[in-house]
Amino acid sequence: MPITLITGPVGSGRTTLLFEKLSDALAKGKAVYIAPNETLATELRTAFLSFLEESGKRAALVGDIFLSLRSFVYRLTQKTPTMTSFQQTLLCFELLQSQQLRYFDPHHISFQIARDAASSIHTLKKNGISPEQLEVLLETRGSLQEYDLLTLFKRYETKREDLHLLDEGDLFQRACSLSYTGEIFVDEFTHLQPGERTLFQNLAAQTHMHLTLPEADDEHQPFASFLKKSISTLQPLTHTHQQLPKKNHEMAQTTLLSLRSSLDETRFCLQQLLGTEDESFSPAMIVTRQRSAFPKILFQEWKNVQNPERAPAPVSRIFSEILQISLPEEASLLTFAEQLRKSLQPTHSDPSLHLRFLHLLQTLSAQAHLLQLKTFSRTEFYEIIQFHLEQENIHQPQLPFETRSFERSISQPHPRIIIPEMNEGNIPFLAPEHFFFSDQLDFSASPNPLLDEIFPAADQLLALDAFRFYTFLTKATEEVVLTFSLLDHKGQETIPSSFVKNFGPPLPIESQVFSPEALQTLGTEALLQRITIEQERRAMRKDHLSYHGLIQDPEARKLLKERFTQECFSPSRLETYAECPMRFFFEKVLGLKPEEEITPEVQPKDRGTIIHALLECFYRDYRNLFSAALTDASKEKEISALLDQLLDEVFLQHDHLLQQSAPALRPFERKAIRKVIEKTLFLELETARALSTPLLPSHCEWIFGTEHVKPLSLSLENDDDILIQGRVDRIDVSHDGSSFLIVDYKTGKSIESIRKKIEDGLHLQIPLYIAAVQKLLLPHASALGGLLFAVMKGEKTSGMLKKEHNEKSFSLSSRSRALISEEEWEDLLETSFKYTRDYVTAIRNGNFSHLTSEPCKYCTFAQACRRGTS
Ligand code: SF4
Repeated sequence: MPITLITGPVGSGRTTLLFEKLSDALAKGKAVYIAPNETLATELRTAFLSFLEESGKRAALVGDIFLSLRSFVYRLTQKTPTMTSFQQTLLCFELLQSQQLRYFDPHHISFQIARDAASSIHTLKKNGISPEQLEVLLETRGSLQEYDLLTLFKRYETKREDLHLLDEGDLFQRACSLSYTGEIFVDEFTHLQPGERTLFQNLAAQTHMHLTLPEADDEHQPFASFLKKSISTLQPLTHTHQQLPKKNHEMAQTTLLSLRSSLDETRFCLQQLLGTEDESFSPAMIVTRQRSAFPKILFQEWKNVQNPERAPAPVSRIFSEILQISLPEEASLLTFAEQLRKSLQPTHSDPSLHLRFLHLLQTLSAQAHLLQLKTFSRTEFYEIIQFHLEQENIHQPQLPFETRSFERSISQPHPRIIIPEMNEGNIPFLAPEHFFFSDQLDFSASPNPLLDEIFPAADQLLALDAFRFYTFLTKATEEVVLTFSLLDHKGQETIPSSFVKNFGPPLPIESQVFSPEALQTLGTEALLQRITIEQERRAMRKDHLSYHGLIQDPEARKLLKERFTQECFSPSRLETYAECPMRFFFEKVLGLKPEEEITPEVQPKDRGTIIHALLECFYRDYRNLFSAALTDASKEKEISALLDQLLDEVFLQHDHLLQQSAPALRPFERKAIRKVIEKTLFLELETARALSTPLLPSHCEWIFGTEHVKPLSLSLENDDDILIQGRVDRIDVSHDGSSFLIVDYKTGKSIESIRKKIEDGLHLQIPLYIAAVQKLLLPHASALGGLLFAVMKGEKTSGMLKKEHNEKSFSLSSRSRALISEEEWEDLLETSFKYTRDYVTAIRNGNFSHLTSEPCKYCTFAQACRRGTS
């Protein structure tokens, strides 16, 4: 049987033509209309009923003939029960905990990774790829994470078969060998995956199939060629190909608006959705990314405006209630669920929430029983609960306005379409949404067309996003409103989407100004405070001192004074204060710590610790070998051979740091660190050989301000002395002990000149270390300066050094700003002492004010200091 292929641009009437054919087919017998997802299937059903009414045609709709592909497969396989995606994820989560992993760390498997793995297994199965076939495919594409996926896939299939369960992938494969008696209409697909092509090809062999695909103008490259490729793959199966011409279509008026913050954007959209009593709007559809939190925030804001007293509890509040309940360290899901069920108190503000949560616990117990899951840790259980709460939205009833996910697209015209969050990285998304097979720079020997098609690369997804965006614009009949915020929810600057560049400059919408009455309606005192703080910040005023980090409470000030008189200050602590007093307050007074990012690689700070330890070990224990190599180059071989032994020792000592990283990456890390250390040592030798009076490493990791060496003390007028402590990476001393130089290793990618920073009081470490060594360790030697050594780049270019010793005891370019005269030397030291005194005085007096109207970039405390939102 043939396929009738209908192609044409968006708005060319493909669906109307298909509706004509459908009504004819229904008059003759059975038919089914397949759409990519439930949303479009429902939309098409409504549109077909309107079509019948408007065209005067009649058709008997027996049963639901508008189905998503998933529902169609389910019906074709006679409604065989399958595992849900949550069950698949639970199973993968459990299996990953007990698996030999090459990329992931078994101690840091998140539920999100399990979800991505389950979704990738589903995609592979749907496209007819078994674990055995994947093993063969991975010979040409894939890196370590895909090998972990392969092992999981094999174990998942074994366990699933042992449990006699089927998943949707199995059903899809089964459907490929079944037949359907009736005409089939396939609409609104933009791209057919290999598995879908196999299914349709099989069905078309037995019945008449009508299939539409869109075409795009060349101006929508590269999506146009992407679509052409899809169409050409269907040509061999096509009996008739109807190409519809482009219709002249007047695009709706499009407005581009910028708002200051994401909260402003939400409120603005809410206002647009609800309208006011004086305005009459056509109902709007709001379009967001599937994973966006925007609809939830919108709902919360709407509830606040409607009735703040009865606003539903956000997930975070429900979750914090759960955290109060004592649970065992490790247990089965059944035990955890049972204990929570017994301990949870009904919530009076939202009684239905309690019932729904009990239902969730029951579901979890049933899943655990069905999948014969073993034990989970308490943290993993929390993760499962939180994930489920967020996924199921159990607390959130229907929104009072229409929302649509950007990925689900639109098939029918709509009067008003609002697309918020038009920011780069969101629309377009820019990165593949799938975690596995997303690394285009993997260890592949060559591309693999099958995997490349199933897991599209970022440029293909960008093209798909561009087409979806164009479709939404085309389907709007009255108005399109595009909005973006200038700052994201963390207070960081954002970039507007590249898709909006043709709409001219955006119209800025000022922050929503709330009247006192409106604020009362919103019912939140905290909001009033936030607005006051914001207004004072913008005007650079400090009317309410404590809002701006100036501690007023006498008791608190007394405590601060006591604490910071007794405690020693390190230069890096004072530098934190110099950069932002508020951050000093969060980090050093309150002791808040930003959450550490967990990655399979060794953390940069841990890599730095290992490099420091290796250099310390070498210069402390093999200083003589280094000295001998200065005059005898053949010793370099001995140094090189020694490095492997040192690496073994230091890696063993720092095993606890490496445990956080993926085992498969550790050999690469070791190789890279070895290279850096070897390069560093040989560079130091080469530089020292060219000097007339080279200095040699004499002290490594010298610590002052402890019980063994007293702190550096700095006097303060009318107050107690300031005590300074620190750890100097290395002190190089001349042969006769008459001069010294301090060296500070930096293991970051680059270092900038510090001369200006010293002048501005932002860098104190080198001057204070010089003063400490001079006073506490080498009082009779002359200080030549301090040097920052960028170990990763092998560069020594920054610091403060007396210029008359250049090319004698150290070597810097003669134009370097690090070289200074005796007079400048004294000035820089004095400047540093002055700043140190100012900072400590301010800290002891409770002054943590950082008054700036500028948004703060890349600060982990932006939310805590309320600079993350407006
Ligand atoms: S957000 Fe800004 S003001 Fe607040 S702690 Fe961070 S850098 Fe300082």
